[in-house]
Amino acid sequence: MNRREWVLYGQKELEEAQIENASGDAWYLFSECFHISREDYLFGMTDEINDKEAEERYKELIQKRKEHVPLQYILGTQEFMGYTFKVTPDVLIPRADTETVLEEVLDQLKQSKKPDTILDICTGSGCIAISLALILKPEVCVGTDISEKALKIAKANGENLAPMVKFIQSDLFENVTGSYDLIISNPPYITTEECGKLMPEVKDYEPMLALDGKEDGLYFYKKIIKEAKNYLNPQGMLAFEIGYDQGEAVKNLMEAQDFACVEIKKDLAGLDRLVFGFAREGE
Ligand code: GLN
Repeated sequence: MNRREWVLYGQKELEEAQIENASGDAWYLFSECFHISREDYLFGMTDEINDKEAEERYKELIQKRKEHVPLQYILGTQEFMGYTFKVTPDVLIPRADTETVLEEVLDQLKQSKKPDTILDICTGSGCIAISLALILKPEVCVGTDISEKALKIAKANGENLAPMVKFIQSDLFENVTGSYDLIISNPPYITTEECGKLMPEVKDYEPMLALDGKEDGLYFYKKIIKEAKNYLNPQGMLAFEIGYDQGEAVKNLMEAQDFACVEIKKDLAGLDRLVFGFAREGE
């Protein structure tokens, strides 16, 4: 078969299994297995392929994708904020929605002093801590996670991209010391009930620990908001990614803990996606 026929074979297989974005995923798996760039492919779509080993691997990976294994876990990487992060089923796959959160936070920070100290709670792959370290070049940047397995991936990403980031195992603030200009978190925020209804890619393969926000989905916001002031510098910012229906609830929780200028912002789909606020002066 020629190159194009191989891509179409993969696409057809994935379509039969009702995989979303079958043509895109088939292309990425093809490119991975045959080491063919997009440009190279477009200039030689009818070139015959004769590489038994690569063909077998391609078929295996297509089969995995048919079983709803996320493309990113098959390829082992995900782009986030222009950087390539290693991902395994031990970490949540970084999302475009989280890029929106970072873009908004960076925009807000333009109006205040650049944060010299940053803490990312529930860091997972480390994507937030590492991206902020690369963009803001703070003096201190710490990422925490309860999962040792996730931290292994975060540390590998840190070594590749931003060795200055320190990763520590901690159940939220448990092992955190010091105080910070920015505390940011994309905690698990899906209700336990909703977790059971997620698409198979997420429900069956992404770590439940990174998704399940318990009964009302607000469990981790409540805990973090209660303790955050002990770790924030005066006027320090606390920012969260949130689910589309959690804006008011998280805003109220922050205001009840006396955070100032609390705001909800939307994502590109027009849904509430982040909440942030500031510690008051002299606290
Ligand atoms: N901070 C990571 C991310 O945003 C992981 C979040 C999580 O595990 N809940 O992708």
